[in-house]
Parts: sequence; C-alpha cells; structure tokens
Amino acid sequence: MKDSKPRDFIRQIIHDETKNQDSRKVITRFPPEPNGFLHIGHAKSICLNFAVANENKGKTFLRFDDTNPLKEDDIYVQSIKEDVSWLGFDWEDRLTFASDYFENLYQAAIKLINKGLAYVDSLNANEIREYRGTLTEPGKDSPYRNRSPEENLELFKRMKNGEFSDGEMILRAKIDMKSPNMNMRDPAIYRIRKHAHQRTADKWCIYPMYDFAHALSDAYEGITYSLCTLEFEDHRPLYNWFIEQVETEHRPRQIEFSRLNMAYALTSKRKLHGLIINKIVDGWDDPRLVTISGMRRRGYPPNAILDFCERIGITKKDNYIEMGVLENSVREELGDTTQRRMGVLDPLKVTIQNFENDKVEVLEAQNHPQIPEFGMRKISFTKELYIERSDFKEDAPRKFHRLKPGGEVRLRYAYIIKCEEVIKDSSGNIEELICSYDPDTKSGTGKSDKKVKGTIHWVSAEHSFDAEIRLYDRLFKVHNPAASDDLEKTINPDSLKTVQAKLEDSLGAEGAPPSFQLERTGYFCLDTKLSNEKKRIYNRTVTLRDSWAKIEKAAMSQG
Ligand code: ATP
Ligand code: MG
Repeated sequence: MKDSKPRDFIRQIIHDETKNQDSRKVITRFPPEPNGFLHIGHAKSICLNFAVANENKGKTFLRFDDTNPLKEDDIYVQSIKEDVSWLGFDWEDRLTFASDYFENLYQAAIKLINKGLAYVDSLNANEIREYRGTLTEPGKDSPYRNRSPEENLELFKRMKNGEFSDGEMILRAKIDMKSPNMNMRDPAIYRIRKHAHQRTADKWCIYPMYDFAHALSDAYEGITYSLCTLEFEDHRPLYNWFIEQVETEHRPRQIEFSRLNMAYALTSKRKLHGLIINKIVDGWDDPRLVTISGMRRRGYPPNAILDFCERIGITKKDNYIEMGVLENSVREELGDTTQRRMGVLDPLKVTIQNFENDKVEVLEAQNHPQIPEFGMRKISFTKELYIERSDFKEDAPRKFHRLKPGGEVRLRYAYIIKCEEVIKDSSGNIEELICSYDPDTKSGTGKSDKKVKGTIHWVSAEHSFDAEIRLYDRLFKVHNPAASDDLEKTINPDSLKTVQAKLEDSLGAEGAPPSFQLERTGYFCLDTKLSNEKKRIYNRTVTLRDSWAKIEKAAMSQG
C-alpha cells in the first residue's frame, strides 16, 4: 500500500506489531473449503491476504481446508486454483491442504488426550446437543467426560481403525461445559466419517473438525496473521486454546474483519449450490452470479475486481455493497482497456437511395477515442445499413437530436443522412427508412460545414453479421435473497434477455478483441462457453452508465 493511503485496522495492527522487528515476518493464508466455486466475498479475502503479505515482503499460502469428505471435490480445487491465478495472485510453492497434516493433527489429538484435555464421548448427536445447554443455560458434563487418558487413547485408536460407525463415538476437547462461549463447551475435534476423501481416499475414517484443523494448520505453516471473517470472532478463544494446549512452535494471531455482502446477490456457496442443482442458473459460471468464474464469463476484468476490493476496504462493520459499486469498477477498467466497435442491438433497416447499388466505401474508424495507440480499423459503408430502432422517432419531441422524418443525423465515421421516407408494414410497424446521404459530409474531411446535433452508430447490412447478445439484469428481486426461505421466489424473471444483434464485420474476423465497447451501447464480450463456429453469442458485461443507480434513486425518492 502506498504510504499516503490510510491503513485499515488490520494493516495498522500489523504495522504496529512488526515495525520494530528486524525482519518483518508476515505470513498469511487463504483457506477455502473445496465445496464450491469462489465468489466476490472470497475475492475480498484473497486480495487482503495476498496484498498484506506482499506489502510486507511476506508470503501467502493457498490452503484447502478439506476436512469434510462428504462435501468436497477435486473439481472445486481446480476451479479455486484457476480463480486465484486469474485474479493475479501466485502462491508459488505454497499450495497446501489441511489433509497434508492429517497425521500431525492425529498426533496433536493424542497429545491432548495424554494431557487429559480431550476425551472420547459415546453420547449420540442428539444427546450432545441436549447436554450442550443454550446461550442462557450452562451445559452439563457428559457421563463419559472423565474417562482416563488410557481409555480415551484406546477408544480413539479404535475410532481410527474403523471399529465404530459414524456418530457412535466422537473426540471432544475437555474445556468447560459452563463457559458462556458455546464454542468452549467441549467442542468436537474428531469425528467418524466413513467416506472416501478426495485426496486421502480410504486412509482415514476419522476427520478433524474445522476449528481444530484450521488453527493447527495455521501454526504448522508458520502463519503469523490468520485473517478471517467476523463470524469466527467467538471461535478465537478456541483457536488460541488449541494453539496453546498443543504447544505448537508458531503462534499465529487471528484477526477478524467483516464479510462482503452484495445487495441483490448471493455470497454463500451453499445457497449458490442450490441454484445450480435446481437449474435456476447455468452452472457456477452463470454470468449473473457474483462467482469469480461468473464474473469472468461476464467479461469483468480481474483488475476491476481488485479495484473494487480496494475501494470497499477492510472494516469490522457488516454491510451490503450495491452492485453499482462493482459495476463502476468494471466500467472504469474497461473504459481504458477495450477497443470500440459498432453494433446494433435492435436493428432498423436504412436504405440510402442516392448511394450506388453494389458500391462499398471503406471508411476509417478509431478504435478508441482517447487512445490513438489502439489504432484505426476499416468499416464498410453500403447502400443498405442498420441503425438502432430507438434512434428513429416519428413523432419526435423537439429535443430528440437523432433521426426523424425529414430530419438529419450523422452516422458515426461516415456521412450525414436525411430521412426521406418511412416504410411500414400493414399493421403500421416501421420496416425500413429510405434516406439520402450528403456526399460532402464525410467525417474527418471538413469538406462541408454542415452541422447536425446528433451522431448515431450503424452497421452495413452486407458487412455485418448476426449475433445473439445476452443482456443481464440482477438475478434477484430482493435486497437480501439469502434471508428468504424460498430462493426461487426471489428470482427476477427478467434477469436474462436475448436479442439478435448486427455487429460490424471486424468483430467476427480473426484476431477480433474478445471484449469491447459497442459505441453508445455498453461493454460486451464473446461467451466462449456458448459460442461455436456457426453461432456467436455475446454477453453484455455492463452498460455504459449506472442505470441501476438511477432507478434506485428514483425508487427511493418515491419512498
Ligand atoms: P461460504 O459461505 O460461501 O461457503 P465460507 O466462509 O464457508 O463461505 P470458505 O471456503 O471457508 O467459505 O472461505 C475461505 C475464506 O474466505 C475464509 O477465510 C472466509 O472467511 C473468506 N470468506 C468467505 N466468504 C467471504 C465474504 N463474503 N467476505 C469476505 N471473506 C469471505
Ligand atoms: Mg467455511
């Protein structure tokens, strides 16, 4: 971080703690569970962990927290690696798995048993819940709590050897059943799960619980700052208890920050999974999701996501960020990095009556209005063209500076045209406009001093191609869909609209930019998952302006 920027509270803590050390040691980790694809909330955590380490010449581990074989899969491991790399972060040789430490964790559990700090409980899950008490009532000791270390060791080994079934026995830490902090009421540390693990296969049938595995994996890796979200604040005493009682060499420090929640979106892998299995969306990478793969497919550049994460900052206050904030970062990034092209989303045919039938006039167009290095391209002007239907109005108000009957408008990079005649079908729909062009008004020549107020985009009918464009709106109708019991009811039925567009030929040519701005219309990208040689499908990445901000403002002023 540049020194001029104020430090967030985590960076401040790290700064204060390390400023007097000769060699600052900042080791962080990003610890996803491989049970789903990553989302924008994870991006916040990834950015924080990697950036904080980088700023302090430290290192970051990518560690998969794979302690629950029922839910985890290598597909998710692969997707998470891809997403972290795509965001631009490099874990180098620090790719690890909690399962790498299964043997150490097992030994740590034995150590706790030997110290009289862990016991095998034979209560069943319901009984354990009952004995646990509530927030207002203390828990009760299990009748098995005072088994001797020898007996516990014996039972724990038998658990490991597969002699019991799932749930029959459980290893618990012996802490305090009356603690006001429920996490300290003899939490489970090992459970039986007779299920093959994606990495260790059938080697183990007992698996460490998250809190135990997480704290100790941090310690084994020499993590100095274990940055996690606020819901783990109440787990911190347990985190510290494990570290202290197992007497690990390194003593990591846990610091919590607020989760990122996005308005009108979902950031919970479990709930996202529900949308996918119920086929409400087209997989984890559906462009309407704020999964990293969805945003990538939608055309969001990684830098926009990094910029967004920097803007929202790191605090301890939970809140909801409006989608418009993320979209602004996307717009800003794409504004300077993508080339301009022309395309018509709702085509209206225009015939230039005074242009020769088979003539093709090649014109030059800028690829970016402010960045000359992006160069120029050739576009073809012909007798038959398409313009945007909304750029013509029959009964146009005075301030409508685009095309109207008898009116004139400039076609971008080409000529001024005049609408001579409107052709309608039998039901009165406008089918075509007959126009004339003024050959003296070619853009950039300065031959004529004729001026018109409006400039519109267009494509040549012959030198354009048909493309399907997918226009996205927010996936949910409600501000916080996660709070709903019936997710399907919160889905916005208009979240995906498809239109048949006409795009200028250069977009179909070899070497065409996969992501571009259609002038006056928005940013788009080729959907490589859906497109094939016969059919090109594009996603609208983002509109040119934040239309939602306007709509929201309007909704708010209406109360
Ligand atoms: P989910 O509810 O989506 O499954 P999770 O916390 O269970 O999220 P993990 O795979 O355990 O998912 O998360 C890995 C890391 O990412 C954790 O350190 C977690 O705190 C962090 N993280 C997850 N969601 C968010 C979020 N919305 N904002 C910030 N950090 C998050
Ligand atoms: Mg988790």
